[in-house]
Amino acid sequence: MVDLWNMELRKDPITRSWVIVGDEPERPAHEGRCPFCPGSPNQPQVIATLGANDQGGGPVMSVVHPAPLYRVEGEPQRHSEGIYDVMNTVGAHEVLVQSIRHDIELWQSSDAEISQFLLLAAQRIQDLKRDLRFKYVTLFKNHGASAGQEFDHPISQITATTFVPRRVLYELRAARDFYADKERCVFCDTLNQEMRTPDRIVETGADYISLCPFASRIPYELWLMPRRHQSSFERSVTSGAGNLNELSAMLRHTLQRVIAIAESFHMVLHTVPNTYQKSNILQYWKTVDEDYHWHFEILPILGTRAKPYFLKEVYYTNISSEVAAERLRKLTVK
Ligand SMILES: [Zn+2]
Ligand SMILES: [Zn+2]
Ligand SMILES: [Zn+2]
Repeated sequence: MVDLWNMELRKDPITRSWVIVGDEPERPAHEGRCPFCPGSPNQPQVIATLGANDQGGGPVMSVVHPAPLYRVEGEPQRHSEGIYDVMNTVGAHEVLVQSIRHDIELWQSSDAEISQFLLLAAQRIQDLKRDLRFKYVTLFKNHGASAGQEFDHPISQITATTFVPRRVLYELRAARDFYADKERCVFCDTLNQEMRTPDRIVETGADYISLCPFASRIPYELWLMPRRHQSSFERSVTSGAGNLNELSAMLRHTLQRVIAIAESFHMVLHTVPNTYQKSNILQYWKTVDEDYHWHFEILPILGTRAKPYFLKEVYYTNISSEVAAERLRKLTVK
């Protein structure tokens, strides 16, 4: 059942971030069977499935979010209301069911299972990018009550939006400016420096690396990224540019580390925007394949065990990335 209430996207005229505004109706508490377990009578509409692979991973599927924030039909109809920008909440909102098991989370899954999940995510992102209305498509996971987890079943989500989210836009602009100046990728430069003094590195493989960023916004912030330059997660995964089993293992290890220190976390994929959508005015994407470098960002929520705060957008973290990386490295993962 897809229930839609009246929602719109409003743009903050000062910070330029988009906000989804809507008065959500009271929704009845979950009744009946989990909508994502096999054979559920409440299963939402299935969009895509990937059958089991020969190493024992899968099956995985993508379904319409039972209470989507965006709807696929219609045009954004971006318009002004005086000084303000408004548009319809056109987009896509899907749930990726990463396991048919109700009780197996991503970090408890095998390489083969995680690979199937990553492959389906990459395929869904590529497919949604064929829709020229969508400027940005991404994958994210909210785990734990403090992260706003919505369902008991282990899932992740994909959204396609008619705008680029603000944090990604900042990264894209900064990467583009750095490239314009130096003709190098700022992420590759950062990685090279981190490799020389590996204080903040948590795990390295042949193709991927996880680390605590130099200026972590919160304690134990973790990034997972390819070691060699790749701008697009979805293209890399579907073309086999990196070792998918290694990526799967590192994602599992990374989440095992996070879950050892925090009950809740946000995970978000930062990949290139929809490059079919070239903006003639802003030209964000002219060098994006050279200047941007995809990565996962994982933000643990520590609750009362640490007291990070931000004041006027200045972040304060009471655990440095060097100490965080050292503690995360020492955790046992399998
Ligand atoms: Zn379930
Ligand atoms: Zn790079
Ligand atoms: Zn990022």
